[in-house]
Amino acid sequence: MNDLVKGVVINSIEYKENDAIVTVLTEEFGKVALYVKGYKKITSKNVYATQLFDHSSFLFDFNPHKSIQILKSANLLSQFSNIKTDYEKIAAASVICEIAGGIEENIYNLLYQTLNRLNDNEQIYLVLNVYLVAILNILGISPFVDGCVNCGRTDNIESISINEGGFLCSHCNREFNDEIFDLEFLKKFRITNKASFDVFDKLITLNLNDFKLTDLLMLILITYSGIYLKSYQSLKNLNH
Ligand SMILES: [Zn+2]
Repeated sequence: MNDLVKGVVINSIEYKENDAIVTVLTEEFGKVALYVKGYKKITSKNVYATQLFDHSSFLFDFNPHKSIQILKSANLLSQFSNIKTDYEKIAAASVICEIAGGIEENIYNLLYQTLNRLNDNEQIYLVLNVYLVAILNILGISPFVDGCVNCGRTDNIESISINEGGFLCSHCNREFNDEIFDLEFLKKFRITNKASFDVFDKLITLNLNDFKLTDLLMLILITYSGIYLKSYQSLKNLNH
């Protein structure tokens, strides 16, 4: 049985002299580990379709009893060349792919859409933030941004509490003592948490391309999902 499936390469580990094991997120089977023979050989016809972030079609016999499938051939569908030539986009795409690999849910469509947006837009952190908001929603760990998470009031909001999971009013924050943000930033955080790629054309006009928003969303993801993300440090380093 030859299975031909579309997928995005989210990880690769070089193996022996010329080979590699690449992890592909596929629509049909979720995460699949593929053994790629001749990964490092320039003469291998598969080399251009199995690099990190490549969106390709992969031919293999899927064996559910095996943890690694043998790749027969791969064909590049889109290579996201604007990502691969921009170190900041590479750092963001690495985080995006590591998250996709770290959660149980199959987010193939969301991942593909996110990499497309990242490839075509310069608002790197807006793209990443919309992706993170979708991930938090899928995992059921979105912060509460419609009022104070502790008492419910909608006025005098002054803080975003990671521990409490949302906005805090000035009265409740006397107890929790979380960092105080200005109103403009609190509004941006709220809009971001309501955002989706369906309204992306509107979002790019709202000045939401802010790493500070990314950092808060990442903190929520890491705190509540327990996912360990080694790629995030590189992105952080670019923003210090
Ligand atoms: Zn309150």
